[in-house]
Amino acid sequence: HDLPDILGTIDEEVRQRFGEGEVADYIPALACVPKERFGMALVTLDGEVHAVGDAREPFSIQSISKVHTLTLGLEAVGDDLWKRLGREPSGDPFNSLIQLEHEKGIPRNPFINAGAMVVADVILSHYDQPEGALLHFMRGRSGNPEVGRDDEIWESERRSGYRNVALANFIRSFDNIENDVDAVLDFYYLQCALRMNCVDLARSAQFLAADGRCQASGKRVTSEEQATRINAIMLTCGTYDAAGDFAFHVGLPAKSGVGGGILAVVPSVMSLCVWSPALDEKGNSLLGGYALHRFTRMTGLSVF
Ligand code: GLU
Repeated sequence: HDLPDILGTIDEEVRQRFGEGEVADYIPALACVPKERFGMALVTLDGEVHAVGDAREPFSIQSISKVHTLTLGLEAVGDDLWKRLGREPSGDPFNSLIQLEHEKGIPRNPFINAGAMVVADVILSHYDQPEGALLHFMRGRSGNPEVGRDDEIWESERRSGYRNVALANFIRSFDNIENDVDAVLDFYYLQCALRMNCVDLARSAQFLAADGRCQASGKRVTSEEQATRINAIMLTCGTYDAAGDFAFHVGLPAKSGVGGGILAVVPSVMSLCVWSPALDEKGNSLLGGYALHRFTRMTGLSVF
C-alpha cells in the first residue's frame, strides 16, 4: 500500500465534511475546542510513522486512556481483575448507572466509566505511586516525555463530574471500590485529562499490534495473551454503544474518547490514531470514524 497517498486522500475527503457533528459539551472546557480539526497517524511494526493533517496537535485523550489503564491493571493482578469486572458490551451510554444496580456493582466492561473506576481502584491498590506509574507508562510507550495533564480540562472535569461522583460512590456501596472514593476519582480525572497527539497515541498502542512487545526494545509490555484480549475488548466495547456498528463499518479493535480521538489496532501490522473533535450522537468522533472506515476500505486491513 502507498500509505502516505492513502492518508492524503482520506485527509482531503474528511476536510470536505468539516462542520458535521458536535463537540462534546458536558465538560465545559471541551466545548471550546474548535471543530475544524483532523489528524491521523499510523505506526507500522517496523517503526515507520506516517501522519497527516493535525496529527501533531495535542488533544484531550479522555476515554482512550482506558486502554492503557486496563493494561496496567492486568499487569497488577492478572486475570483476577475479571472477578471485579465483566467484558460484555454494555449497550448503554458510557456513564450509565442502570446496569450497576442489577449487576451488584460489577461494571459490564473496563471501557465504560464504571469499569475504568474499578481498574483505577486496582491500580491505586497495587502501585506505590499510581499517578507516576500512569505518566511513566504513557511517556514511555509514546516516546514523548512531555505527555502530561491538561489542567483546564482536569479542573473542568472535577467541577462538573456529578455523574462520575455518583458512579464511584454507587460502586463503593457494593464494596467493589476499596480505596478512598475521592482518590479513585482523582486518578480517573487525571487519566481522562491527559493531552497527547495522534502520533503519541498511535505509538502508545504499538505493543497491542506487536503481541504485547515493545518493538523498539523487544521488551514485553504485557503478555501475548493479554494483548490479544485487550484487542478483543476494544473491538467489542471500545466505541461506546456503537461498537457493533463500528465493527461493521471499520472492523478494527478501537477505543474512542469524547475529545474526538480514536485509537485503533491492526494486529501484527500497525497501530493508528485519528482525531477530529466533533462527535456523532453516540459520542464517537464522526469524521474520525469515517476516516477509519475509509482506511480499512482502501487498504483491506479490517480484521475480518
Ligand atoms: N472524562 C469523561 C467522563 O468521565 C470521559 C468520557 C469519555 O471519553 O468517554 O465523563
